[in-house]
Amino acid sequence: MDKILFAELKKIYSNDILFEKEDLYPYAYDTSPNPENIILPEFVVFPTSAEQVSKTILLCKKHKVALIARGAGTCHCGGCRVKSKSIILHFSKMDKILEINKEDLTAKVQPNAIIKKINEAVEKEDLFFPPDPSNLAVSTIGGAAALSSGGPRTFKYGSTKDYIINLEVVLADGKIIKTGTDIAKNVTGYNLTSLFVGSEGTLGIITEITIRLIPKPQARKVTLAYFDNLIEATQAVNNIINSGFVPATLDLLDKNTLTTIEKFNPCGLLCDKEAALLIELDGFLENLNFECKRIFEILKKSNAAQIIQAQNEQENEEIWRARRSAFAAVTKLKPNVITEDVVVPRSKIVPLVKGIENICNEHKVIVCIMGHAGDGNIHPNFALDLSNENEKENFEIVKDKLFKLALELGGSLSGEHGIGSEKKKYLKDALDNGALEYMEKIKKLFDPENIINPDKMF
Ligand SMILES: Cc1cc2nc3c(=O)[nH]c(=O)nc-3n(C[C@H](O)[C@H](O)[C@H](O)COP(=O)(O)OP(=O)(O)OC[C@H]3O[C@@H](n4cnc5c(N)ncnc54)[C@H](O)[C@@H]3O)c2cc1C
Repeated sequence: MDKILFAELKKIYSNDILFEKEDLYPYAYDTSPNPENIILPEFVVFPTSAEQVSKTILLCKKHKVALIARGAGTCHCGGCRVKSKSIILHFSKMDKILEINKEDLTAKVQPNAIIKKINEAVEKEDLFFPPDPSNLAVSTIGGAAALSSGGPRTFKYGSTKDYIINLEVVLADGKIIKTGTDIAKNVTGYNLTSLFVGSEGTLGIITEITIRLIPKPQARKVTLAYFDNLIEATQAVNNIINSGFVPATLDLLDKNTLTTIEKFNPCGLLCDKEAALLIELDGFLENLNFECKRIFEILKKSNAAQIIQAQNEQENEEIWRARRSAFAAVTKLKPNVITEDVVVPRSKIVPLVKGIENICNEHKVIVCIMGHAGDGNIHPNFALDLSNENEKENFEIVKDKLFKLALELGGSLSGEHGIGSEKKKYLKDALDNGALEYMEKIKKLFDPENIINPDKMF
């Protein structure tokens, strides 16, 4: 343990510091695949204010120690991973919803406020915060802001970036700044807020967030439509959109996903079908009745083999529970599950899914494919045993081929999970050279000594 650094941290945090090996272990991981050699952080600290964060950054600069912000640690891309001597800032003591302003349709929250709790609080005021990463029961708003997390509702409502209007950020030189003003419509100066949103904690530490809210939709209706082939399922997605409908969710589940969910969480899914679409419509009840009827007709014309429309909120939830259990179900197939995240133009979903199936057949890897078909954002969930060296090496080849395929189809490396340490080697293939050069310059401008979450993204 670095005793000098510890003594200086004590002056800021008193006893809110972890330093024993066994206490540090949980903070060396996130939900990305385990690295070969785990590096423990030197310390974990629990700030209660931006001022404490500022003092911590200055200490990190002085001692040349990395500083990594952490929310729930559910990042799939290794964004919270420790790569060198580091201090982890854990925001569990900054988890409050500070205010909800119904007239201005805004709320001010601390970074560790949990998205589900934000939603429960604003819904009491008949308001709505649409970003919905599937793990919203644990995901923090700070982590979601740093990654611009999306979710099933992104097709209609956009992702986290569309709902953050102002941030309090602590910069590498210890300055505490506001990136904007607490108003949703604002083009005064450069849009610093959008620069920090999605920057994966590499440019500064977010200590307060103003979010934009919208009125809560009055009702929702969920439909599950099964298809005998994938092409018809994706064609149905286009037919719905081209008929003028914008469902909140248009999610695709392949046969392996349906079978795996049903095997571990029997809920009546039809496993003899090749694909299913989960469609959620929301809005005023009268409109929903009309829209559901029309979408039912469109699905039939698109050759849906079976259509199940939930009749009440309980049935809506049953369908969603099945969809949300997909990740957990895949974990039962093999010791490890890796959720990947690629995005292509919607017109390229079929070649993407077929390509993923071919790659996995060739390399004998089990994959369950699901995703947000409305956005062209596909998540292959790979079931693996990473303790087997051959399997591990084999999966590296599968990954290389997956990202190459997505890029060849005009897509990109991530629709919502980010780059972190897991995908940085592919970044130069995905970005224009000039753009990448300027991104690196932005990192140097904000963090010249590379203190804040180093070794991520670039
Ligand atoms: C089962 C499961 C389902 C998921 N579903 C989705 C999904 O549907 N959509 C989706 O987009 N993602 C999804 N994810 C990925 C991830 O959970 C989300 O992106 C989530 O919003 C991250 O929040 P977190 O609190 O876990 O962040 P963390 O993992 O703790 O942090 C994520 C990144 O943000 C940085 N960070 C955290 N707090 C701050 C801060 N205060 N200031 C600056 N940087 C900060 C970290 O350094 C890290 O780089 C899923 C993950 C799991 C395990």
